[in-house]
Amino acid sequence: MPGGCVFCKIAAGDIAATVVKRGDGMLAFQDANPQAPTHVLVIPTHHVATLNDAKDAALLGKLLGFARDLARELGLAQKGFRVVVNTNPDGGQTVFHLHLHVLGGRPMTWPPG
Ligand code: AMP
Ligand code: ZN
Repeated sequence: MPGGCVFCKIAAGDIAATVVKRGDGMLAFQDANPQAPTHVLVIPTHHVATLNDAKDAALLGKLLGFARDLARELGLAQKGFRVVVNTNPDGGQTVFHLHLHVLGGRPMTWPPG
């Protein structure tokens, strides 16, 4: 675990988070600063810094499937939801541990800011 990675610490249980779902090397927890009625982050429990660094296509497939299943379990599937992966500074990434934002519970707008 890279020292100081907040999401590694959440995965290890060293920083508290409201866990929503876990399993198969993945963890989902509530975003501390929610941007929608439902705003959950999905991470691999091992450290990958950004989408650029995710060389394992199977991992990416598992992450996306995990997020899709989570959205269904949270009751978002029918009305809809958004999955976002901010990458590096222009993408708006602030925590450098790969994560998917799952947002729902309100209509989303386009284009994003
Ligand atoms: P990003 O800007 O895409 O890197 O997203 C990072 C997200 O992590 C933001 O939405 C933050 O609100 C969220 N966040 C940062 N620290 C924590 C934490 N300790 N627990 C839960 N969410 C966090
Ligand atoms: Zn990490």
